[in-house]
Amino acid sequence: MYDLETLAKVTSEICRVKGWDREWDRGGCYLHLEASEFIEALRGKGDSSREEEAADVLFVLLSLIDGNGIDVNVVIGHLYDKIVTMIAEEILFNKKQLLTWEECGGGPDFSTWAQARLKNVYNIEYFRFQADVINRIKDIEDEADKNV
Ligand SMILES: [Mg+2]
Repeated sequence: MYDLETLAKVTSEICRVKGWDREWDRGGCYLHLEASEFIEALRGKGDSSREEEAADVLFVLLSLIDGNGIDVNVVIGHLYDKIVTMIAEEILFNKKQLLTWEECGGGPDFSTWAQARLKNVYNIEYFRFQADVINRIKDIEDEADKNV
C-alpha cells in the first residue's frame, strides 16, 4: 500500500492530466458529491459499495489537498494533534480511563479494540498514543493552573 503523501500526489496528477479543476468551486462540488454518495452507500442505497464510495471521497480529498499546495503530512500532523487532544480532554473532563497493554489483552487486534469500546474507555496502547496523551493532559492542566 502507498502512503497518503504519494496517494495525494498521484490523485492530484491524474486530475491535472484529465483537466479536472482542483479549485474550490469545481473540486469542492465533487467533494460534496462524493461525500453524499458515501452517505448513501452507508444507508444501503446506490450501486457502489461503502468501501468504493469511501475511496471516491479520499480520491477527491487527497487531490484537493495536493492540488491546492497543502502538505498532506501537515494535515496528518493536525489530525494526530486533534486526536491526542480529544482523548486527553475525555480523560480529564469525562473521567474516561487509559487501559494498559495487559488490560487490553496484550495485542492490538479488533477484538481488543471492541472490548475497549464496550468498556467506554480508550485503548491507548492500541493507538500507541499514550505518551503524547499523557503530555497533553499535563499541558491542559498546566494551562488551567495558569488561569487560576
Ligand atoms: Mg462516488
